[in-house]
Amino acid sequence: MNGHGSAALREAVWAANQAIVRAGLVTLSFGNASGVDREGGLMLIKPSGVAYADLRPEDLVAVDIETGRQLADGLRPSSDTPTHLALYGAFPEVGGIVHTHSRAATSWAQACRPIPPFGTTHADHFHGAVPVTRQLSDDEVAGEYEAATGAVIVETLTTAGLDALEMPAVLVASHGPFTWGPDPGTAADNAIALETVAAMASETLALDPEARPVAQSLLDRHYQRKHGATAYYGQRR
Ligand SMILES: [Zn+2]
Repeated sequence: MNGHGSAALREAVWAANQAIVRAGLVTLSFGNASGVDREGGLMLIKPSGVAYADLRPEDLVAVDIETGRQLADGLRPSSDTPTHLALYGAFPEVGGIVHTHSRAATSWAQACRPIPPFGTTHADHFHGAVPVTRQLSDDEVAGEYEAATGAVIVETLTTAGLDALEMPAVLVASHGPFTWGPDPGTAADNAIALETVAAMASETLALDPEARPVAQSLLDRHYQRKHGATAYYGQRR
């Protein structure tokens, strides 16, 4: 147990870790969720190798977002910690990150194919095709592998000119999905939406290998009605 990170952030990160399990996105102990406290200069992340069923909010590990150092003795942070830190460092608007090996999204990552926006379910969450990274080089794999994984996600978004909150998911080639959002709960929601969208895309192509993405107008309309200045989906907050 350590006192780093507000109780609210600790609860939110814990809830995001539980949400991906409840949604069936976790096999064994694969995957992790984190959340960041920008003012406190720290992130809270799942400890490495701990079964989700045993995970308590106080088990989450606090890591300095500048140095990557663990802020208190105790459980070791997820081995994917450098990947999360790279994303928080590159995208100040990101407040929570989720990584899973969920079956359908990981299948697209293994096929090294971006997920086309075949319908409005996709457009409600992801403003365009969900991109896939290039393969890491042998040197990147042999070196600081987890940091290189973060860097290649950042490279994928920036070279495509994508906004991190408009495209809150990237498939890491031959690995699996990372999703994020302004907070840990939204990052988990995006992981759940991505898995559904990935499964439906596979089924769409099975029914019709020539299926085409939705029109840009429909993509924009569905994205904008849930996000941005003119959003009108749901209730006023
Ligand atoms: Zn992984």
